[in-house]
Amino acid sequence: MEIKSIGVVGAGQMGNGIAHVMALAGYDVRLNDISAEALEKAVALIGRNLDRQVSRDKISQAEKDAAMARIVTTQSLADVAQTDLVIEAATEREDIKQKIFDALLPDLKPDTILTSNTSSISITRLASRTDRPEKFMGFHFMNPVPVMQLVELIRGIATDQPTYKACLGVVEKLGKTAASAEDFPAFIVNRILMPMINEAVYTLYEGVGNVNSIDQSMKLGANHPMGPLELADFIGLDTCLAIMNVLHEGLADTKYRPCPLLTKYVEAGWLGRKTQRGFYDYRGEVSVPTR
Ligand code: NAD
Repeated sequence: MEIKSIGVVGAGQMGNGIAHVMALAGYDVRLNDISAEALEKAVALIGRNLDRQVSRDKISQAEKDAAMARIVTTQSLADVAQTDLVIEAATEREDIKQKIFDALLPDLKPDTILTSNTSSISITRLASRTDRPEKFMGFHFMNPVPVMQLVELIRGIATDQPTYKACLGVVEKLGKTAASAEDFPAFIVNRILMPMINEAVYTLYEGVGNVNSIDQSMKLGANHPMGPLELADFIGLDTCLAIMNVLHEGLADTKYRPCPLLTKYVEAGWLGRKTQRGFYDYRGEVSVPTR
């Protein structure tokens, strides 16, 4: 099946990046959010990010203009349902994702493929509540989408081969690389990454190091391009906590228990870069550690 149009639900950090790369690759994009403000911000941000690519000679001005023209924003899920491939990239909460798929169902075309960009939630469970578990997959981009090369493709228990092949074709058209992962909590990347981030928060919580010494240790001592706490702020602490909860519940092993300090930051609404404060405070000219 040839995919021509893409519906993206959720225009946050990930949704805007997904719309960006899809439009640049020539797909018609319908970008949806419950928040009109999020849609406005997303389009402005895509424009700025494409401008940066133009100024670095990665794309031409004409390519930027064509990509922007391919993106239509909508607050109606019925519009999104009429596309060939839907990528749900809303907040990492199963109840929210469930409601979105419920709302999409009545208006879907018979062959629309449904996917979720979830970092951790069971694809099989999300799929089982739709009318098309065989046409349902995990389509997991990395952040920031225009920069990161990998896309994890996750087959639910019922996903059929044509659906997998169609999604693989989209990843290839984007010039990205697909990794095939089985549908177990947090798949491959976050199964490995999140316990490391959670352990960094425990290291902070227990006073073994402070924010600076922990991040510096992992950058200079393990050659990581970003420290784990800086990376957690970048991902979003609510998303990190949600993934740890999925690992904890899904694998029923106490080694995945989320650090109480991570929970406390989320309770405070200090969610990282997106709220200007997390393990670092980003409100000034330079970021300052909060512990
Ligand atoms: P975000 O908080 O930046 O954006 C979420 C967006 O979803 C918001 O704009 C919100 O208004 C919107 N939304 C909420 N409910 C909605 C609804 N009912 N209908 C339409 N839109 C709705 O979050 P994000 O970081 O972009 O994460 C989105 C998804 O991508 C999550 O599933 C997350 O696990 C996954 N993901 C995140 C990262 C990351 O590094 N942040 C990486 C890979 C995957």
